[in-house]
Amino acid sequence: MSENDFIIVDEKEQDTPASTEEKKEVAATEPAGEKHEDEYEKVCFMCHRPESAAGKMIEMPNHITICQDCMQRSFDTMNNSSIDFNKIMSSIPGIQFLNLTDLEHAVPKRQKIKKKKETKEKPVKKLNIRDIPAPHKIKARLDEYVVGQEHAKKAMSVAVYNHYKRVASDTMDDIEIEKSNMLMIGPTGSGKTYLVKTLARLLDVPLAITDATSLTEAGYIGDDIESVVSKLLAASDNDVERAEQGIIFIDEIDKIAKKRNSSQRDVSGESVQQGMLKLLEGSEIEVPVGANSKNAMVPLTTVNTKNILFICGGAFPDLETIIKERLSKKTSMGFNAELKDKYDKDQELLARVAVEDLRKFGMIPEFIGRLPVIFTLKGLDKEMLVKILKEPRNAILKQYQKLLALDEVSLDFDEGALEAIAEKAMKKDTGARALRAIIEEFMLDIMYEIPKDESIGQVTITREYIEGTGGPVIQLRGQQVPLLN
Ligand code: ADP
Repeated sequence: MSENDFIIVDEKEQDTPASTEEKKEVAATEPAGEKHEDEYEKVCFMCHRPESAAGKMIEMPNHITICQDCMQRSFDTMNNSSIDFNKIMSSIPGIQFLNLTDLEHAVPKRQKIKKKKETKEKPVKKLNIRDIPAPHKIKARLDEYVVGQEHAKKAMSVAVYNHYKRVASDTMDDIEIEKSNMLMIGPTGSGKTYLVKTLARLLDVPLAITDATSLTEAGYIGDDIESVVSKLLAASDNDVERAEQGIIFIDEIDKIAKKRNSSQRDVSGESVQQGMLKLLEGSEIEVPVGANSKNAMVPLTTVNTKNILFICGGAFPDLETIIKERLSKKTSMGFNAELKDKYDKDQELLARVAVEDLRKFGMIPEFIGRLPVIFTLKGLDKEMLVKILKEPRNAILKQYQKLLALDEVSLDFDEGALEAIAEKAMKKDTGARALRAIIEEFMLDIMYEIPKDESIGQVTITREYIEGTGGPVIQLRGQQVPLLN
């Protein structure tokens, strides 16, 4: 339809009597027209804000709509003014009060903005914290997303199960169940944050993630310790009741270890640990609503941290040395050198961590005492990295496959390619975090070139392509030719 066609239709709608044929057409399209009407927002004639921003509109003749604010403002101006507009206006020849009918042609027919379509997200099946499922069921859900880390998933599922059972049965007076706050120890990129995020999403509880390095004792530069609770409140849309059942994840907890050989006050180390004690245990904390720091301008509310699950995580570098020292001391009768060697090769050394090692590392006993569930995560090996690439529900490869499938191209990775990606990632020493960066680097060319040629039906990424010594195998719809170098 050309632009002119639109104008003709408009005119017909306004005043020319339509022919019978046209009338029929209008009648036939009317319900659809009404439907379209719903898709548009009204816009204020005066301030030009749409209905979604300005609130309900007042309808005036000739399709003019005015928001309530502007209407009120107009009335106020007239009432408050000592000038008699009527008199002035009538005394000036040729000027009269605004006549809305004059605006008929000034107002565009569609004084509306198209509303945004509501997108329906596919709901993730949530677990119910009021009727918390058994630990093996929680673990089974975690398995869908998190590869390996069997011990961590098991420990976490049990801790969460106990925690929410404790929350649900708040009436235990004589036997009080201890909080199941957790301490996760594992190298970077081993999935600590990812585990917590997945858990919070499955349980549908609010989650706040903070970095312990940003925390300092109250009154010093940095975030107050209590700011972690206000973050959680913000994550719960300021719903205190929801926040009180949420999860707070404090990452890089090893960075607040007691500073050794320091004569100054340790405001970001030991003092932070001290300050966190009452939070971890459960106390009433006054937090600002809708802001990060307390000041006279923001209202305060009280959040009880008794039922908030605290999970702390850290890489704890050098902890292995401390563990090794302790283990070798224990068995240092005679064949010391040989035994030391034995622990050097122990892959599971971190899993043997004991409270005294953490104390030696610089965590104060009261602090560790409030994190009764301690477990470790393994560094990811090549095999696990390959699995992470292809197995989880939203695995990176699946995401790319889906993207290309939209262009009707099937994307495959041969085993050699997956191994080559994992090997490259291992070299970066940042765990699974390196995977995405590596894949994105070489997928750029693929994503750029493939949509150019509609005859391409299948792409297979090979080890040679990842290593830069060859190209991917491109299969045209029918034949097989190696392309792209
Ligand atoms: P960190 O241990 O440093 O907190 P993250 O949890 O941030 O590591 O991991 C970085 C990314 O690596 C995550 O977003 C996730 O996509 C991926 N990842 C890490 N470990 C796993 C795992 N075991 N299973 C699946 N994906 C993982």
